[in-house]
Amino acid sequence: MSANPHRMPTLFLGHGNPMNAIEQNQFHLRWQRLGQQLPRPKVVLCISAHWETRGVHVTASEQPQTIHDFYGFPKALFSVEYPAKGDPELAHRVADLLPAHKVGLDFERGLDHGAWSVLLAIYAKADVPVVQLSLDTGQSAAFHYALARQLAPLREEGVLILGSGNIVHNLRRFSYDDQTPFDWAVEFDEVVKSKLASHDHEPLIDYGSLGQHAPLAIPTAEHYLPLMYALAVQDETERPQFFNNVVLSSISMTSVLIGA
Ligand code: ZN
Repeated sequence: MSANPHRMPTLFLGHGNPMNAIEQNQFHLRWQRLGQQLPRPKVVLCISAHWETRGVHVTASEQPQTIHDFYGFPKALFSVEYPAKGDPELAHRVADLLPAHKVGLDFERGLDHGAWSVLLAIYAKADVPVVQLSLDTGQSAAFHYALARQLAPLREEGVLILGSGNIVHNLRRFSYDDQTPFDWAVEFDEVVKSKLASHDHEPLIDYGSLGQHAPLAIPTAEHYLPLMYALAVQDETERPQFFNNVVLSSISMTSVLIGA
């Protein structure tokens, strides 16, 4: 175990509905508690389901804008600003750690709701800088896992690596009116949790092998892939802690804290 006081845990958060940012519901309240529970990072490096790119990019501006990347929500959500600073130094550090990926520094891109909807609860004062790393969704989970492993040294440097997505995420099947969880969604979520609990990463990377429900649970990979980033920087000895163990219709909010 490391005695480095700057060593950070790592997190995967199921973010779900953007309204969780401003509703005082169970998810929001649990995220608030994280802010009190976690050691204070120097900076957050967020990998969100909502920044899909070709190639790998990182936000590099001093002051990223708040992006309202959704439709049909109340005005209150569109007026949310999350004025956390960026950290160009971390952006360069990320690029240096991933030389083979020729990481693009993006000086225009702001923070999407995958990042700010959860961070608004965790660090309400927006006083922890935030950098986002994009998801090259043309690539496999194995690609993302291998890439993310190279980011592991950042945990020793006070960086909180935060994956934000949903383990089970099928919007086509989702019902707002009746959020009774689908059996297949619960089963798949349980399978993923059991693999996480036993540090069995191979089948999580090869997620198509996780049984017949995989295509329903992960019809597209962008909400699942952020999980790879938390796993890839996990030490063998670190046990995951699960929270927000709730499945709503066809979306699971299951979240994982590692190394805390
Ligand atoms: Zn989302």
